[in-house]
Amino acid sequence: MADRLAGVALARYTTLRTGGPARAFAEADTTADLVGLVAEADRDREPVLVLGGGSNLLVSDEGFGGLVVRVVTRGVEAVPSGDGRVLVTAQAGEDWDALVARCVAEGLSGIECLSGIPGLVGSTPIQNVGAYGQDVSQTVTGVRVYDRGTGEVADLTAAECGFAYRHSAFKHDPERHVVLAVTYALERSALSGPVAYRELAARLGVEIGERVPLTEAREAVLELRRGKGMVLDPDDPDTRSAGSFFTNPVLGPDEAAALELRAPGHPRWDMPDGSVKIPAAWLIENAGFPKGYEKGRARISTKHTLALTNPTGEAGAAELLALAREVRDGVHEKFGVWLVNEPVLVGASLQLS
Ligand SMILES: Cc1cc2nc3c(=O)[nH]c(=O)nc-3n(C[C@H](O)[C@H](O)[C@H](O)COP(=O)(O)OP(=O)(O)OC[C@H]3O[C@@H](n4cnc5c(N)ncnc54)[C@H](O)[C@@H]3O)c2cc1C
Repeated sequence: MADRLAGVALARYTTLRTGGPARAFAEADTTADLVGLVAEADRDREPVLVLGGGSNLLVSDEGFGGLVVRVVTRGVEAVPSGDGRVLVTAQAGEDWDALVARCVAEGLSGIECLSGIPGLVGSTPIQNVGAYGQDVSQTVTGVRVYDRGTGEVADLTAAECGFAYRHSAFKHDPERHVVLAVTYALERSALSGPVAYRELAARLGVEIGERVPLTEAREAVLELRRGKGMVLDPDDPDTRSAGSFFTNPVLGPDEAAALELRAPGHPRWDMPDGSVKIPAAWLIENAGFPKGYEKGRARISTKHTLALTNPTGEAGAAELLALAREVRDGVHEKFGVWLVNEPVLVGASLQLS
């Protein structure tokens, strides 16, 4: 079994560059190790943090009082499915964007708009990773997990994953499953899925619903993302973030009517179920928090209002949380809408202690 190290600083393993020491830290490069480490910790009632690429985490300055298991399992397999698609199964520790690049190069369509998202395959079902009109719920057909409740390895169907906007059964019950591998059903095609996102369609010079060569879709998405500091780049301080810090709020009819009174004509996406999704970036900017807004050493990205950043790498988690609270409270005061954080907070909370 993998060695356990004591006192490893977690800041170097998170893209926000925050996080104090882990009481214990181990890397799992086989599925057996991953399951074994978590099972042993569970037997000893030791808290466990499963760590992927650290790109959706804000870890407290106090660190983590338990075992951090970093997932570094590798392997990708592709087999034909019965219905003409290709089933691509990747181990949890595979780099997500490398998998997207490989699928695009091999003429497999369905995840190209998810190019440039940091992190690992095993994390993609956790918050149903999505961008530019695609999310993984559209292609995931199965997730192999270690169920910490039963102590068994199980294969979950897509329906059992409970996917929703930036949400899933895994996020709902975060202590229960360790994702071991994910299977995506992709179409063998040189063309992208139908372009579903207005900004991407405009960049590609096509109408919504048209399809474009896979490589063009990937390049256009990467270009758009780079312009917003949403592709990790050591030379771009705006990418020292966890991506979007807040999800776009989804309001029921009463809340939507109340917001319409406060901000007539505000931008909105009407959802098929009657709810209304509001761009969180619009709320933040119009509550008085422009791009580049600073609090201590934490800053709103100069390119993307939704990303809170640690531009010098010297801000602690406490400073990022202080900025997040100020933004959340300012939006609530002005618009009556509570923003919800997208990254997972470890040993930290947006409530004041
Ligand atoms: C610049 C930037 C841009 C981003 N853009 C997007 C975007 O466009 N769309 C989007 O959806 N997200 C985006 N994100 C957020 C992030 O990249 C994704 O959520 C990603 O899937 C997180 O992967 P990770 O491996 O880094 O997960 P981590 O941050 O390591 O972990 C996230 C959570 O998943 C859990 N977890 C990780 N691996 C496993 C596993 N194998 N089993 C069980 N639990 C696990 C962790 O315990 C933690 O709770 C962005 C982040 C950054 C920094």
